[in-house]
Amino acid sequence: MNQTCSHIKNIQPVTPSGNGCEECLKMGDHWVHLRLCETCGHVGCCDNSKNKHATKHYHQTGHPIIKSFEPGEDWGWCYEDEIYIEELPVNVGDYHH
Ligand SMILES: [Zn+2]
Ligand SMILES: [Zn+2]
Ligand SMILES: [Zn+2]
Repeated sequence: MNQTCSHIKNIQPVTPSGNGCEECLKMGDHWVHLRLCETCGHVGCCDNSKNKHATKHYHQTGHPIIKSFEPGEDWGWCYEDEIYIEELPVNVGDYHH
C-alpha cells in the first residue's frame, strides 16, 4: 500500500488538446468523464466511457500519468504503478479558468 510513483516528479504542466476526447470528437461519439495525459496534454475518455481512449492512449504511447479533467478534481492515476494520486503535486489546474 506504500508504493510510490517515480513518474510524478517528471511531469510538467501541459496544455490540454481540447475540451473533449480527441478521438470521440472525431468519431462523433460520446464519453462519460475526461482524463488528461500529464505527459503530452492528450485529452481522452475514462474507463467508464465505452471507448476508453485515455487508457488506449497509455497503451499506445506509454505515457504513465493521467489527471482527472473534470472541474474541481485534482486526482491522478499512474498506469504503470497502478497508483491513485490524491492530488497531483504540480500546478496543472490553470486550464479550468
Ligand atoms: Zn508511476
Ligand atoms: Zn474517447
Ligand atoms: Zn500522452
